[in-house]
Amino acid sequence: MGTIPSETIEQIAAANDIVEVIGSYFPLKRAGANFKALCPFHQEKTPSFTVSPSRQTFHCFGCGVGGSVFRFVMDYEHIDFPSAVRKLASRAGITVVEKYRGGGADDEQRQRELRQGLLKLHAEAAQWFHENLIKKQVGEAARKYLRARGITAEIAKRWQLGYAPEEWDAFCSWARTRSYDARELIASGLVKTKDETDLAQTQTSNLKPLTSYDRFRGRIMFPICNDVGEVIAFSGRLLQDKEGAAKYLNSPETALFRKGSVLFGLDKTKRALIEANCAVVCEGQLDLISLFEAGITNVVAPQGTAFTESQARILKRFVNEVVLCFDADAAGQKAAERSLDALLENELIVRVAEIPPGEDPDSLVRREGKGAFETRVEGARDFFDYLIEREAAASKPESYPERIRLARRIVEMIARVPEPLLRGEIVQKTAARLNLAAEELTKLLPAIPTREVKLPVADRIQLRVPQVIEELCRLALRNPEFREFLRSQDWQRVLVEHEWGTLVTSILEAQLDVTKPDSIDAFLNSVDETERSFFSHLLTEKLSTEKAPGRRGWIKPEIDAMRVGKESWSFLQKDSLRRELKRVETLMAQPNVSPGDVINLQKQILDLREQLHELSQPAGPADK
Ligand SMILES: [Zn+2]
Repeated sequence: MGTIPSETIEQIAAANDIVEVIGSYFPLKRAGANFKALCPFHQEKTPSFTVSPSRQTFHCFGCGVGGSVFRFVMDYEHIDFPSAVRKLASRAGITVVEKYRGGGADDEQRQRELRQGLLKLHAEAAQWFHENLIKKQVGEAARKYLRARGITAEIAKRWQLGYAPEEWDAFCSWARTRSYDARELIASGLVKTKDETDLAQTQTSNLKPLTSYDRFRGRIMFPICNDVGEVIAFSGRLLQDKEGAAKYLNSPETALFRKGSVLFGLDKTKRALIEANCAVVCEGQLDLISLFEAGITNVVAPQGTAFTESQARILKRFVNEVVLCFDADAAGQKAAERSLDALLENELIVRVAEIPPGEDPDSLVRREGKGAFETRVEGARDFFDYLIEREAAASKPESYPERIRLARRIVEMIARVPEPLLRGEIVQKTAARLNLAAEELTKLLPAIPTREVKLPVADRIQLRVPQVIEELCRLALRNPEFREFLRSQDWQRVLVEHEWGTLVTSILEAQLDVTKPDSIDAFLNSVDETERSFFSHLLTEKLSTEKAPGRRGWIKPEIDAMRVGKESWSFLQKDSLRRELKRVETLMAQPNVSPGDVINLQKQILDLREQLHELSQPAGPADK
């Protein structure tokens, strides 16, 4: 990945007004100098999400998220910084030229060109497959099949479904007319080569030797997209079941496609996932499309059968809970169990929806409709309830040894729950169900290392910053005169004494010009997430002196701000002096202090007391 020059980033920031950008996602209401809306990052009834057009920042006073226009796009779209920059660049019609430096530059450049070539090939291939399905004679049988499963032309268009003809060379010939070379086609995984032995056999059998052939033949094609909606791979479903051929075939891993890190449908469903805070997980692409089209839009499908660690990690960025809607058959049950580890590891709550034998989400939602399916999702049982019921039904444990044997099996699963409270709860439940004492079950649990629990965005604990530091930060950020005053003080020495002093230090050290949005943006990007939340709050809120202009009649707000700021500063100075005084006094009290040191320390103590006394005097005539 190259770097985007900072001039370009500034240019992009300048061309994307934060009110317009956020306003294009959801309506904003004017509230004085700012704009307000219900926060998209947490559930709320009264708007605390605030956008400041003058600072070009946003902040939610409910959950603490905040930052620049780039931060908003990153958080809202769940994309990284370079992607947010590119997205806003294209919105403003600015071309991003990335810089490549360092030793691996050539290699990086080649990789990038390869990826871009593959993206173009995939986009065109998806269109070609799609046209086969929609317009061509060759797609008739596929059209019929999809119609029978309730997939209309409109739905096929929305998901860009396609058809790969039942031929060895249909895709290859098309691709050659588009002048893609063999190397590129093979790198895309859409074309396979015959190995040497295959070649020899073909030649002895007198057939026209084919060195390469289409991977997908006679299949309905589902484009697999990355989370910004670019086609990166395909999944093909066999139109007519054939012996020895897999019903579903996916693209192999390529420079674009890492099978275990893509969730089918995510590009279309992520907003719904965030809103529901819950993902309905189904196995197949058709299941997902049927649910989505029926109006159940918070859906994803893992590629393959069970969740990988990286898929679960991606999902956790959007939801806290998943409802598995896997088929009732043995394969579906296995997939559910094998998904569990990855899901629990990522602290997702896992529930299992009841799918009657012989049905799948696709057939169910078409037969019963949206409402009935939603009832199933709502009624989905906790994974462990489901597991206990299933195991108990299978083995009917009556005697004590049988119940203990079953408990051992379930405890193996419980051990995978990383969160101790949740684990304890499941132990209680299992014990009750098996008519065993909870302590007995706990004893069966292997030792579990404690882990740090990450809080989701909406519950994030905000910095509990002392009032005096908050006041100093607020004014240092927003009042240039006060910032200059602080910089004229002995600020490094004073701030280093205070545990929260670094917050003020980072403002004073930054080349910050609050009249320039790109300067604010650079500053907010230089601090960590909790600090960003704290600073964006201070930048976006109204100042108390702005809230009630003329509150003090003849005192101008700026003077008021300076007075408040200086009081806070003097408080901190005194605090720092007292700490120093205490340190020196402790040194004095040491048993073997040399007489020379005693004189020195006494002098320091006097000096510090003097300074403290001066600071405690009411403001002299110079301040009037
Ligand atoms: Zn919020």
